[in-house]
Amino acid sequence: MSERARFEARMRDNEQRLRLVTQNVDAVLWTADREARFTSISGGALDQLGLRAEQLIDQSSGALIAEHVLQDVARGITVRAETARGERWLRHHVEPLRDGEGEVVGAVGVSLDITELKRTQQELFESAHRDRLTGLPNRLSLDQRIDETIADARRDDRRFAVLFVDLDRFKTINDTLGHRTGDQVLREVAVRLQETLRSGDVIARPGGDEFIILLPRVVHAGEAESVALRLVRALALPVPAGDQDLFVNASVGAAIFPDHGRDAEAIVAHADAAMYRAKALGGNRFALYDHFMEAAAGERLVLENDLRHAIFRDELELLYQPVVDLGTRRIVGCEALVRWNHRVRGVVAPGVFIPIAEESGAIVAVDRWVLREACVTAARVRAYQPDFRVAVNFSPRDLREPDLPDVVAAMLAEHGLPGEALSVEVTEHVLLDDTVLPALRRICALGVQVAIDDFGVGYSSLAYLKRLPITALKIDRAFIRDVADDAYDQAIVGSIVSVAKTLGLHVTAEGIETPEQLAFVASLGCDEVQGFHFGAPMTARALEEALAPRAERRLVERGA
Ligand code: C2E
Ligand code: MG
Ligand code: MG
Repeated sequence: MSERARFEARMRDNEQRLRLVTQNVDAVLWTADREARFTSISGGALDQLGLRAEQLIDQSSGALIAEHVLQDVARGITVRAETARGERWLRHHVEPLRDGEGEVVGAVGVSLDITELKRTQQELFESAHRDRLTGLPNRLSLDQRIDETIADARRDDRRFAVLFVDLDRFKTINDTLGHRTGDQVLREVAVRLQETLRSGDVIARPGGDEFIILLPRVVHAGEAESVALRLVRALALPVPAGDQDLFVNASVGAAIFPDHGRDAEAIVAHADAAMYRAKALGGNRFALYDHFMEAAAGERLVLENDLRHAIFRDELELLYQPVVDLGTRRIVGCEALVRWNHRVRGVVAPGVFIPIAEESGAIVAVDRWVLREACVTAARVRAYQPDFRVAVNFSPRDLREPDLPDVVAAMLAEHGLPGEALSVEVTEHVLLDDTVLPALRRICALGVQVAIDDFGVGYSSLAYLKRLPITALKIDRAFIRDVADDAYDQAIVGSIVSVAKTLGLHVTAEGIETPEQLAFVASLGCDEVQGFHFGAPMTARALEEALAPRAERRLVERGA
């Protein structure tokens, strides 16, 4: 064989080998001209990308590579870039093609299909950031989200909330029914929590029977509270496991940024502390973090003690929130809500000190003070608005005092008030205890309105309600929050109103903040409404000022 023939054979051999490589390699090999049109294209990845070489020749290379890549190459730069093409990912290595003078005349590139690699990377990322059992974000990704939210909140001067959820009897379920059932319960809980939250809220499972929720935008603590109450309610429904229904219940604690902490660690730790408070109070409830929770047990004793003296030191104040009749749109009454102006700590919200007062028993004295104050205000207002009614909240502890009905009767008599001038609010919870029913019956018999406060899907069945000594329902504001656009809440509120109507009970919707919420509850035929839309809790003086123009108008109408 001549030298030349051997050379040609080697060239053919090389060429064949090259073709074999370019046709089978998991990549696309290509060249393009200065106008970014393909001049050659081959490679095993074309098929899986759904491309055909013949159709691409002379066509714009935009079908494969992003335009900016070729623009850079045209300026003489070697580019490495990743781009997505439909479902698939490509990694390009592109170099300028130069002529003899070094002028860029086109580009030569290798585009690798890295879809599988990306998928593996994503899976690795997911497993580092997600909880396997529930598929929820884990603690790591939650902390990242909280850090981002802190940065946003600082920039826009906003608040956000973190809720700490802990299941109440989970350990028992796990120990007695086994891990498999336990896992099933956790998955169901994860689903319910997700269903209760809104898009944008983040829910994570750091482990065990704990869940942490980030509400990235809240205006005030009340919002975190209503979300928390919804969660508590959603979890109070039985969880089906095999052939039985399990009752799980949860305790929820909340902390607000920046009020209760300035970094992720503090916010989560404080939501956790609040959750412990909720648990200590019997579970199946919500507690908001308060700086007192940091205080040692000794401090708490001091606080309990302070509370006993609060009445004598004149530190309690009663605020009144207007209640509006939906028929006439008049203020027909108010709810008395207590505040504690602590001489050192400033204003303490009832959500914080009522639980302490309930535990220590101080609530009885507090509520009797409230009852007296409320009667004084009612008597004064009724002088010019005779149908005015004041509502007070009673704790379970109050109802267990045997003389409560006598105290109520005496207080009404002392201020010359008929029974209908007063309304008493108790929670559904209270009514589960049969021993309080006789006292409520006696209070009812005085003509006093007895309302179930914060009424929801919690406990009461229709048949049960019928037997109770009650005359009114107050729909929990957790259901009102999203009622203007949440079909689920609309259905609940709608059915509460119709149940109430069937039983001849008076219905109040609380937590009305917007005209849309108002329009919806009005369309259902609620009797009364209450909420920030009409007025926040205000001093007796402010309340009387709000009522006064009407009183004057009436005097004018009467020709006075
Ligand atoms: P509650 O009886 O359901 O009282 C309504 C609560 O909702 C009040 O909070 C009120 O300020 C708030 N609120 C009213 N309108 C709106 C609204 O439009 N939006 C939102 N987000 N919130 C609204 P507050 O005064 O902090 O009272 C919290 C709870 O503390 C009361 O809930 C009641 O259970 C208890 N409480 C208050 N005062 C007393 C009292 O004198 N005795 C007893 N035993 N409990 C009390
Ligand atoms: Mg109330
Ligand atoms: Mg209420």
